[in-house]
Amino acid sequence: MRANNEDSWYADPEGRLFLVADGMGGHAGGEVASALVARAVTSSAAEAGGWEDPRAELRRLLERADADVQGQAAGPLRGMGSTAVVLFLREGRAWIAHAGDSRAYRWRARRLVRLTIDHTPEVELGYGTLGGRSGMLTRAIGIGAEPVCDVDETDAQPGDLVLLCSDGLTDMVADAGIGALLGAAGSPEGAASALVDAANEAGGRDNVTVVVISVE
Ligand code: CA
Repeated sequence: MRANNEDSWYADPEGRLFLVADGMGGHAGGEVASALVARAVTSSAAEAGGWEDPRAELRRLLERADADVQGQAAGPLRGMGSTAVVLFLREGRAWIAHAGDSRAYRWRARRLVRLTIDHTPEVELGYGTLGGRSGMLTRAIGIGAEPVCDVDETDAQPGDLVLLCSDGLTDMVADAGIGALLGAAGSPEGAASALVDAANEAGGRDNVTVVVISVE
C-alpha cells in the first residue's frame, strides 16, 4: 500500500541471529532508519566476540544502531527512527531485544505466546487497544532513549516456531489468527507466506514483514 517499504529484515540461520525493523519518519526517513538498523546489527554481529553474554551483546548491537540512526538524522531525515526486534538462539535458550511495537511470538504445543511488550502509550498506560492505536511509540531506535531496548531471555525447544513481525501484520491479523496460521503451516516458509497473505487480504494498510524461525 505504501510507495516505499519502511521495513527491513535479516536472517542468519548459521549465526542464529534474526531481525525485523520498521522505520518511521517523513520523506525517506523510515526506509533509511530501518535499513541503518539492519546494517548496524549485521555488521556489528560479524565483529561480535563469541557471544559470551548474549544479553549484553544484543544491547550493544542496538546501541550501535541507535547511534548510527541519530548520526544520520539531519535535514530531511531529522526525526527518523525505527523499531527493532532481534532474536539470538543458542543451546536451548532464546534472547530477544526489542524497541517499539514490532513483536516476537512463540508457537509451541499449539499455543501462541507473545514474547514482547509493545512500547506504546496504550500498552504502557494500560489502555489496551480499545480506543484504537495512537501510532506513537514510547521507545524506538534512533531517538536517544535510555535504555535503547528491552532484552528478555526464554527457553527454546526443538519444534518451536518463533515469529518476528512488524505491525503491518499485527494491525491486520489478531493473535488467534496468527496462531491458527502457524499451526496449519507445514513449514516456516509456508507460515511466512500465509501470514503475509492474510495481512494483505485483511486490507494490508502497511508494509508487512515476517521472519519465521523453526527451532531445531
Ligand atoms: Ca509499520
